[in-house]
Amino acid sequence: MTRSPIIARTLSSLHRARAELGKRNATIALVPTMGALHDGHVSLVRFAKRRAKKVAVSIFVNPAQFAAHEDLGSYPRTWKEDIARLTDEGVDLVWNPDVKTMYPDGFATRIAPEGPALAGLEDKFRPHFFGGVATVVTKLFTQVRPDMAFFGEKDFQQLKVVTRMARDLDLGVKVIGGAIIRERDGLAMSSRNVYLSPDERRTATVLFRTLKETSKRLRAGDDVKTALSDGADAISKAGFVLDYLEARHAETLAPISSLNDGPVRLLVAAKIGTTRLIDNIKA
Ligand code: AMP
Repeated sequence: MTRSPIIARTLSSLHRARAELGKRNATIALVPTMGALHDGHVSLVRFAKRRAKKVAVSIFVNPAQFAAHEDLGSYPRTWKEDIARLTDEGVDLVWNPDVKTMYPDGFATRIAPEGPALAGLEDKFRPHFFGGVATVVTKLFTQVRPDMAFFGEKDFQQLKVVTRMARDLDLGVKVIGGAIIRERDGLAMSSRNVYLSPDERRTATVLFRTLKETSKRLRAGDDVKTALSDGADAISKAGFVLDYLEARHAETLAPISSLNDGPVRLLVAAKIGTTRLIDNIKA
């Protein structure tokens, strides 16, 4: 039988649990999540277990990264199932603060990441987003004090932002990226996929298919602009409202004009109905 993780909801219980886990210099990994866990989160937990002696998972739906018109109120919450999965995975600690614990009255500090956070991708459509992510991740790192933290490539720009920030602020946490986990038909797993109607769910596979097709064309030597514009058309025709389909340098996120410009990542964000989906692949 696997042991249930310690569940900490206050800073004092977190600090007690942290002291316990860190005994005999055990390495500690943190996997930050907003809950509604799926196989993508679980793959990060498994990755973390291979690299560290102890694994902590945070579950916190962070109001600071949602704009007023976004889905904070309806974001899926599946606490019981989440704890069952984390117990099965042998997770040691779940950090589940409430909003008041994370942002007490009078809270007045916000991290303003630049560089990859201003690449003109997610930041262009969710201007409040990376400030909220950077602030909460900094707090999670200083609260839990992990040796390493695992983030999914699913949120590719976020992974770059957090990696840069951990270095810039000497947070002492090694940021490690995990591959995107997909449904059988290619749709990237996301807690938000539950919002999709059956029709939208079928259409949603267009994103991954278009990324793959665009990548194939670029590798065959097609012009980048033309391939992206054809891809954008295919996504729009399928019924999405496209935010962006872009080819960027995989490290700097700078725009590229040819595959020779470096390791290239193709990134997409688009809305179907009221659900906004993102995805990316290596070109
Ligand atoms: P979220 O709960 O959506 O904030 O995601 C928590 C972490 O899981 C983030 O680092 C995400 O990038 C990662 N993640 C979300 N979906 C996937 C996926 N399909 N594959 C791999 N990692 C993922």
